[in-house]
Amino acid sequence: MKPPLLTRVADGVHFVRTGAVNWTILTEGRDVTLVDAGYPGDLPAVLWALERLGRRPEQIGAVLVTHAHVDHIGSLPRLLSRAPDARVLTSGTEARHARREFLEQATPLDVAANLWRPGFPSWTLHIMRAGALKDVRVPRAEAFPGPGPLDVPGRPVPVLTPGHTSGHTCYHLPEAGALLTGDALVTAHPTSRTDGPQLLPSLFHHDEAAARAALDLLAPLPAGLLLPGHGPHLALSPAEAVAVVRGGDG
Ligand SMILES: [Zn+2]
Repeated sequence: MKPPLLTRVADGVHFVRTGAVNWTILTEGRDVTLVDAGYPGDLPAVLWALERLGRRPEQIGAVLVTHAHVDHIGSLPRLLSRAPDARVLTSGTEARHARREFLEQATPLDVAANLWRPGFPSWTLHIMRAGALKDVRVPRAEAFPGPGPLDVPGRPVPVLTPGHTSGHTCYHLPEAGALLTGDALVTAHPTSRTDGPQLLPSLFHHDEAAARAALDLLAPLPAGLLLPGHGPHLALSPAEAVAVVRGGDG
């Protein structure tokens, strides 16, 4: 396993990057919350990052899901078998997605149709190895207990941002001044030719127009640090990042 990049970006906020996807580990005392969990093949990297932070899977109290694509929930089925007490929380719609009551994800055919594009062949090979074609479902996924901040490390506040998927959810960490944007806003992707705040290529969105509109929900949030699902973390406010994305629309 190539170790992922593990960066402490704020007190109790640890950002983990592989070449293909990111996740975040929130810690407070002995409590651990995982936000997203990479591809199925990223399980060793998830365990490695937990170990580096002196934690074990058994200590995970909650897993927060931004959205139920295979690159964000892939390691969960095997990880959760070692974390019997962990609750898996997301929006009501995305919980159903994670349980695979429906599926909103680019198909292998969608990806194959884009193989001529720069970046796609090597990225496709990489994600196939990471288990992109595995049928991943998380029966344990459930809706947040109620509105407002979650009673887990970092007190994340869910921000429903439908578009990339119908129940996509970002997480605002008011105390850390950070925003976990999932795939509602990313800062790079192996199939993108530009760096900086951007939307993923069209084929990855369930509803691209809604994904674009959802940026309005992020822009007003007070934060100075963006932790995206893909690409490096950026010291920018959501308003600044959204302005860049909108500027890039021409
Ligand atoms: Zn993703």
